Amino acid sequence: MASDRGVEGWWNTMRILEIRETAVPIRSAMRNAVFDFSEMTTSVVAVITDRLRDGRRVVGFAFNATGRYACGEPMRTRFIPRLLAAAPDTLLDADGIIDPERCLAVMSKREKPGGDAERAIPIGTIETALWDAAAKARGLPLHALLARRYGPGTPGGKVFCYVGGGWYLPGQTLDDVRNEMKRHRDAGYVMIKTKVGGLPLAEDRERIAAVVEVAGAGSNVAVDANGAFDRDRAFAYAEMLAPFGLRWFEEPAPPLDFALYAEICARYPHPIGSAENLYSPQDVANLIRFGGLRPDRDILQVDPPQAYGLATFARIVAMAEAAGFSRAQIFPHGGNLMSLACVGGLGLGGCEAYPGVFGPFAGYTDDARVEDGWMRLPDLPGIGFEGQSALYAVMRELAPEAASGM
Ligand code: MG
Repeated sequence: MASDRGVEGWWNTMRILEIRETAVPIRSAMRNAVFDFSEMTTSVVAVITDRLRDGRRVVGFAFNATGRYACGEPMRTRFIPRLLAAAPDTLLDADGIIDPERCLAVMSKREKPGGDAERAIPIGTIETALWDAAAKARGLPLHALLARRYGPGTPGGKVFCYVGGGWYLPGQTLDDVRNEMKRHRDAGYVMIKTKVGGLPLAEDRERIAAVVEVAGAGSNVAVDANGAFDRDRAFAYAEMLAPFGLRWFEEPAPPLDFALYAEICARYPHPIGSAENLYSPQDVANLIRFGGLRPDRDILQVDPPQAYGLATFARIVAMAEAAGFSRAQIFPHGGNLMSLACVGGLGLGGCEAYPGVFGPFAGYTDDARVEDGWMRLPDLPGIGFEGQSALYAVMRELAPEAASGM
């Protein structure tokens, strides 16, 4: 029975009591080819439910990943009120547990088609927190719930994880770049991604040669231009990079310049990666249709909480598969536990890690280890934020009741 102490067990339907959000500064000194992160913030969301599980209040958490600023205003004025105003039973699945897909439909009411970036991030962050709550209510890791819902999961409970490094720092030397990459190798990573486009081309070529030398082969190295290049520069870099035989060339062009993507894909023989800055299934469909992406090699990198959340991400994965891409070519952006749950649940190519870059807003549980490029999935209920102590401290401040049955 419901009481002010909450409800334990399966026999009662689950209710959302409150949804809180707060903006938190990320504080990073890093810079890519386009911008620095000195003002970057993220929205942390807590979905407080009436459900108790193992004596603890079920609270779902998420944050809007890295690279997009906090987005509390549309959450407070539109998406949270819509969820709280809905008849509670309309938000539940057949087991009486919160159903994020039904919640997504409620949040999307009275939204005009198009203009997705304005709402895909706030909706997606809340939706991801709802998944955390739904998995915790079942006592399941989120990757296991996603595998059950969308399949097929990951054999052996391990996923491939590469390191996103090679950021531009003031006064950096080639030896600094080599030493950074050696540290990543020593930490267990096999594949390394480095930023590109922040220096003149000849200096960038030396930098990449140094990284390839440490990584042992071009196929262990990806580069990321963060969408910075115009046509001339994209082709100059494509020509410079081609002999390295890199694992992929990420965002060689602005994210929506599909015609330029098509030209690059027609001329650059090795894989390119993109889609971390696309915010709807239609945008990704257009990248595939008009950007000339090659289903036998190119890499898709949608960020799940930034693109309407995990249910929409699963739709995008299914769409890419129907277009001939394999799940092994999908590496969701983010470098966090939310993307990791998607990789494990949907059986994708892998995830990225940003050790030491974004403070608590990147990385995995405190006990996560990468060995020969592979990382074990966490077996905590939900997304697993409770195992990432620095991040969970921020989350618990937003919803102290998560740590108790109160
Ligand atoms: Mg990128």
